[in-house]
Amino acid sequence: MKALVIGGGIAGPVTALALQKAGIESVVFEAYDTTADGVGGMLSVAPNGLAALKIVGLEPDFGEPLRHMVMADAQGRTLGRITGDMSRVVPRAELYQRLRELTAAQRIKVEYGKRLVDVRHENGVTATFSDGSTEEGDVLVGADGIRSRVRTIIDPHAPQPEYVGLLGFGSYAENSGVHADPETMYFVFGSSFLGYWEQPDGRIAWFNNLAVDQPEEVSSSAIWLERLREAYGDDMPAKQLLAHSHEVIGAGPLEIMPSVPHWYRDRMVLVGDSAHAPSASSGQGASLAAESAVQLARCLRDIRDIPTAFATYERLRRPRVERIAARATKTNSDKRGMGPITRLLMPLVMKTFGARAFTKDQNYRIDWDAQVSR
Ligand SMILES: Cc1cc2nc3c(=O)[nH]c(=O)nc-3n(C[C@H](O)[C@H](O)[C@H](O)COP(=O)(O)OP(=O)(O)OC[C@H]3O[C@@H](n4cnc5c(N)ncnc54)[C@H](O)[C@@H]3O)c2cc1C
Repeated sequence: MKALVIGGGIAGPVTALALQKAGIESVVFEAYDTTADGVGGMLSVAPNGLAALKIVGLEPDFGEPLRHMVMADAQGRTLGRITGDMSRVVPRAELYQRLRELTAAQRIKVEYGKRLVDVRHENGVTATFSDGSTEEGDVLVGADGIRSRVRTIIDPHAPQPEYVGLLGFGSYAENSGVHADPETMYFVFGSSFLGYWEQPDGRIAWFNNLAVDQPEEVSSSAIWLERLREAYGDDMPAKQLLAHSHEVIGAGPLEIMPSVPHWYRDRMVLVGDSAHAPSASSGQGASLAAESAVQLARCLRDIRDIPTAFATYERLRRPRVERIAARATKTNSDKRGMGPITRLLMPLVMKTFGARAFTKDQNYRIDWDAQVSR
């Protein structure tokens, strides 16, 4: 069997590596004509994502480790604390590079400058790219992200991503006087949401979500830094972090994929954000993409009949990804600002429900060797 994998982000290379491990040949086609060196901000990979990546040979030694999460209010009071298995924060470009090294080591072909425009079905699948070239295979995997072309080829009426009313930003503060414990990520629910942790070089890396009704281009760093300072006012430690940041990097509008009715048709199937993009506030998008890639490969390894393999893959994945997406949507409304009652109840909520659900999601592990049953 030969798979055409569309998209060279996270889900694409992981799918190709997992298929290779399952004895299935694949080629990855990426729309951009160069690699994404130096592009993008930081990404956190949760323990479940690290475990999925380990299955395809990526050791959890990239970026920096995080083991603790602290929820706080804007007066510096701790509302909740969770200690779990190790997550890692990593520049997106570093993760891409590590995956690229692995695909190269496995001699998996990755072709750049290949934007999929159409797919034809005859005996197998024929992909057509915007440069007019074509490629034939037995199955086609749409790992082409939240604006997936494959999704609309599978179903022209498929939903499109929705803006959740939040813009994302990030930056680093130098000599801010803000203290952070080692391996700890802080989530502050104040005038708006803000997260931060300390880098090995002593700088505090931070990211935030700002409620903005319409998605806007984040054009000038100086204007947005000023807008953020106004929005956070005297919130602690946002005030110090923003005062000691020289620029702000716009991560862009946060979007989610509403539930996608059809994950597959004929010999085409979706994996990663194309099928299930939870809001970035879940911290799970990349991890779920890696899990789905691995599960798809297991299904194709163990089930000869392709439609049955795709149906089994969807059955294994849909409940989990939709539950996590639903919780992230709820978190977004919290991030738009927490009322006084929610703030008061936060420690209790975290203790009883939040921490349990959170660790349950993170404890998910795929048994690669287990036979997939239909
Ligand atoms: C601001 C922000 C912060 C985030 N933070 C986190 C985080 O901390 N932790 C986390 O787990 N997740 C996070 N996410 C989500 C995470 O980035 C995604 O879930 C993850 O990148 C999904 O991987 P993917 O491979 O499915 O899609 P992508 O990474 O989007 O990759 C898709 C690839 O397909 C290519 N492509 C698109 N169309 C075509 C085509 N027609 N032909 C060929 N190639 C095509 C694209 O160029 C791209 O390279 C964040 C997202 C955002 C927006």
